[in-house]
Amino acid sequence: MTARLLDGKAAAQQILDDIATKVGARVAAGKPRPKLATIIVGENPASALYVRSKQKNARQVGIDSEDHRLPTETSTEQLVELIGVLNRDESVSGILIQQPLPTHIDLFQVVIAVDPVKDVDGFHPFNAGLVAQGLPGGVQPCTPAGIIELLDRGGVRIEGASAVVVGRSNIVGKPTALLLLKRSATVTVCHTRTKNLAAFTKNADILVAAAGKANLITKDMIKPGAAVVDVSANRVDNTQIGDLGPGVEEVAGWLTPNPGGVGPMTRAMLVRNTYDAELRRRP
Ligand code: NAP
Repeated sequence: MTARLLDGKAAAQQILDDIATKVGARVAAGKPRPKLATIIVGENPASALYVRSKQKNARQVGIDSEDHRLPTETSTEQLVELIGVLNRDESVSGILIQQPLPTHIDLFQVVIAVDPVKDVDGFHPFNAGLVAQGLPGGVQPCTPAGIIELLDRGGVRIEGASAVVVGRSNIVGKPTALLLLKRSATVTVCHTRTKNLAAFTKNADILVAAAGKANLITKDMIKPGAAVVDVSANRVDNTQIGDLGPGVEEVAGWLTPNPGGVGPMTRAMLVRNTYDAELRRRP
């Protein structure tokens, strides 16, 4: 079997085109252009690259962006102060704080400082709580939302599927598990203390690999015909690879390319969340 590709690049482009049309219509009707404010603290080349790509996608659909760069020694209080300014700025629709932040910064204080209405990452506990409880009105975090969208567009049946998520971070693993559960998959979450990871992955109709460990998931750990989503962005010899070993495409039924799978979808979901954030304030 050769797996069908869950093409994140193509799906993301369709989503961006759709938002571009909507933004164009709003602007033509005299409404303000949405704006995404981004914040980077410190010098991290990968963060700078990610934020540049996010701003580029925003620009492509007619969403303005505003770039804030703070030095590494910025304190939690200074960062929270800037977030307060952006919360009060009428022209800003959404605020993105690129992670990782320097370790001296209190991430919780930063996350709760963002006005939930302008929280385009879905990390504020108010929004995350709504998503966890399956209630309307929350903000779905970008990577998990992109994963569900990719599965749906690929025709993968989620309801009733046995889904295994490898990774339990607040950004990827945990919210992905919650979104799969909301869609009535039977979900297992694996992590570093999981005994016999293969015993779980081998039974997964849907496998989401988000451990950040190159070659963790080998082809003998895949159930034939499974939908496999490779989230991780590991750098090996200056090249991005995921968590999958060679030959997984021979066993899986569906597979995300990496790169070109979850990454573009994450950015498309950020753009969508920014547009939705603008709509929440100014319908
Ligand atoms: P993270 O915070 O480091 O979490 C990694 C998770 O994987 C942890 O829960 C960890 O378990 C688990 N894990 C690590 N090694 C494992 C092993 N050998 N067996 C089982 N579980 C293992 O990372 P993250 O922020 O969730 O991101 C995960 C990956 O996705 C990274 O490579 C990141 O770069 C990538 N990512 C990609 C996108 C995208 O748009 N494509 C977006 C976000 C993240 P413990 O909890 O027990 O430590």
